[in-house]
Amino acid sequence: MPVSAVLQTSFLGDMVLTTPLLERLAGEGLVHVVATPANAAVLANHPAVASVIVFDKRGADRGWRGLRRVAERLRSVGAQRAYLAQGSNRTAALAWLARIPERIGFETSGGKLFTTRRVPYNRTQHHAARLWQLANPLGHDGTLPEPLRPSLYPGASDTAAVEALLRAYQVAPGTSLLALAPGSVWATKRWPSFAALATALVQRIDGASHGTAERVVVLGAAGDAPLAAEIARAVYEVGGPPVIDATGKLSLLGSAALLSRCRVLITNDSAPLHLASAMNTPTVALFGPTVPGMGFGPLAEQQVVLGRKELSCRPCHAHGPQQCPLGHWKCMRDLAPQDVAHAVLELAHSGG
Ligand code: SF4
Repeated sequence: MPVSAVLQTSFLGDMVLTTPLLERLAGEGLVHVVATPANAAVLANHPAVASVIVFDKRGADRGWRGLRRVAERLRSVGAQRAYLAQGSNRTAALAWLARIPERIGFETSGGKLFTTRRVPYNRTQHHAARLWQLANPLGHDGTLPEPLRPSLYPGASDTAAVEALLRAYQVAPGTSLLALAPGSVWATKRWPSFAALATALVQRIDGASHGTAERVVVLGAAGDAPLAAEIARAVYEVGGPPVIDATGKLSLLGSAALLSRCRVLITNDSAPLHLASAMNTPTVALFGPTVPGMGFGPLAEQQVVLGRKELSCRPCHAHGPQQCPLGHWKCMRDLAPQDVAHAVLELAHSGG
């Protein structure tokens, strides 16, 4: 049976978007994944993954000795092929040090000197599709699965944590949840009007509701708690129901489990967008300094992408700079909360 190793040590979203490749390879044999400590958790319970080898590249496994140690662990799984989903010099060197005979990566990758086969990096494709294409035999274009969607498998403890959180906020059964994910590592990707959106939503819910109670929930890491507090305060001031603050309270798969309960997610171009794609949660995605054409748009069946298409400065950065280089930050500042609320309510009620 073929044994593959997939090396993905990039951001969480990249790990999520690697899951279609993992599923494809699992159809042929065993798949072992090299992941960062943070990303390893998101692969728990995944049926395509035989094992996860944690590579703490910025911590315990930093430096040459750490690299050698992880390479030994990787070597022990006996992979014949390594797929370099993250193609830095360090990751590619890891596959080489592990003596994996075939090492496949993108022709644009920094670590391409360590590869034995280079695959074109198609800039017009979704990143999940680009990663999936790594498994194409030499000289062939595979037919992409339809729909192409990542997959995650929250476990019983993740679901239990969500239920406990909703109980703590006295969320009645059948309540429709509108999820907001206001955070991002990259400052210019953080839309500044989530609080205004939340108040617009709670003020319009009564008129738009189809007889189901609705509540706002805020998703994110512990560091996003101040953003959640700002949203909760704004909703309180207009007399809306208490906002459910899930920031820092759930694991990554717990957040995915919560998203599977949500009617719609409103998010920046950040990790929750990809968690929602995996759970097929209807998504309103707000793009500022980046654009979905870069390959990281939503893959949920129901989705709306909003952004100021008329701005010639977009996109201005691969991720989103920490400050707008032009100083005005119009790509985000000019996205009106009322327009976003309109899109959210249309999507939330499109199923009746
Ligand atoms: S330069 Fe344009 S795209 Fe970049 S942050 Fe500023 S307004 Fe946004």
